[in-house]
Amino acid sequence: MQQEIHRRLRALPAVHEVLSRLEDDIEFSPFMTNERWLPRMTQCVRQVLQSARENINRSLADSYEEFEASLWTSLRDKLLKKLTSTEYNLQRVINATGVVLHTNCGRALLAPEVARFVSEQAERYSNLELNIQTGERGSRYVHVEELLCRLTGAEAAMVVNNNAAAVLLMMNTFAQGKEVIVSRGELVEVGGSFRIPEVLKAGGARLVEVGATNKTWRKDYEAAIGPDTALLLKVHTSNYRVEGFTHAVTGAELVELGEERGLPVMEDLGSGSFFDGASLGFPTEPTIKQAVKSGLSLVTFSGDKLLGGPQAGIIVGKRVFVERLRANQLTRALRVDKLTLAALEGTLRLYENGEIEDIPVWRMLSAPLDTLHKAASELVMALQANQKIAAELKEDVSQVGGGAWPTVGLPTWVCAIRPAEGNVIELEEFLRLGPVAILSRIHKDRVLIDVRTLLSGDSEEIVLRLGQWGK
Ligand SMILES: *Cc1c(COP(=O)(O)O)cnc(C)c1O
Repeated sequence: MQQEIHRRLRALPAVHEVLSRLEDDIEFSPFMTNERWLPRMTQCVRQVLQSARENINRSLADSYEEFEASLWTSLRDKLLKKLTSTEYNLQRVINATGVVLHTNCGRALLAPEVARFVSEQAERYSNLELNIQTGERGSRYVHVEELLCRLTGAEAAMVVNNNAAAVLLMMNTFAQGKEVIVSRGELVEVGGSFRIPEVLKAGGARLVEVGATNKTWRKDYEAAIGPDTALLLKVHTSNYRVEGFTHAVTGAELVELGEERGLPVMEDLGSGSFFDGASLGFPTEPTIKQAVKSGLSLVTFSGDKLLGGPQAGIIVGKRVFVERLRANQLTRALRVDKLTLAALEGTLRLYENGEIEDIPVWRMLSAPLDTLHKAASELVMALQANQKIAAELKEDVSQVGGGAWPTVGLPTWVCAIRPAEGNVIELEEFLRLGPVAILSRIHKDRVLIDVRTLLSGDSEEIVLRLGQWGK
């Protein structure tokens, strides 16, 4: 056996042999044989030879004669397939975790009609910075500013790369070399190393902490105001809750204090939402509109959290402040591209037209329990024929994700599966490493498929993949 393996390994051609034989064998276009292609071709040859070596080590199914006879055609076909197919690093995954704003999976999904609009904008020229009426240069922000103002009630709006950039820009514009007062209960860290103290520092501002972790009062802010104070900052404690014996100063109360002392008050709303989640059973939090109405100078929030749009940092508020942001050189470095603006305009228009159920984030968050029950039952039923898997319907909870409503569990229905042989760790990995990665959740001795975050066709692919388990 060992001898046979060595014999076959020796029969494999060297890289340069494959390359020269390819030239005789295949008619390449002039483009493909040029210098730019040689490195890629060489890499592909190496990969194909490597996988051929592994195959030989794994199995000696055919006779040596068969192996030798088909060796070249098999290498060549694999090579051509590799050369002509595009294997992207970014791949679609099936999110069966039930976490709606899954940061590792790209946070918010765009509505299909918004995605179509983005694709159209990507393939065609546009009036991105053109005023069609006058034929002169225009601003890229006008396409969303009016919409944002209408939806939030603000005087002015602008958009940057993400909410972290929005806060950085705000600090750099209004507090460079000066002090910013923040409650100790609001010194947030969000995933991906965004920390309020550090962002302030990066923007050139000095942080002045006031109050205690659980309680901060108006008088704490008042006592901290000095000649170097640039502004008062409120930060949404997105991904954690201070509960029990607590007190925080509301945005409106801070605005009152700011007015008395002639200081602007700004708020990082984190996720921020256009409508009150209370109608869906979420804890009541001020909407963006309410935050604006309370008189804050500027309010910032993310585009791809509860808004359900593209990654972006949205800043709304009083015109004088927005204009100063625009004049900052950093704005150019943090500016959004046309695809982001297209995705944002598309999403904002859905809000304006009241088509909120078309926004995937809200559709998933508000999915009725009986719809989820039906989808999970169907999945369980479809798996009944699979002898190697035991599937049952279970109640569970999904999460919002993205640091929004961290303590809220959304009641859901899941398809809980257990392998007849093998363990759940292996089964979770098997799902993740399939042709399309399927992300699930392990709970106790089950792999859970939460149907809340599945899209059309996903269930079928999950059933297909599970059909391969143990084969
Ligand atoms: C999420 C979040 C951020 C960062 O927003 P990105 O859009 O991810 O940059 C900043 N502040 C708060 C309070 C957040 O919740």
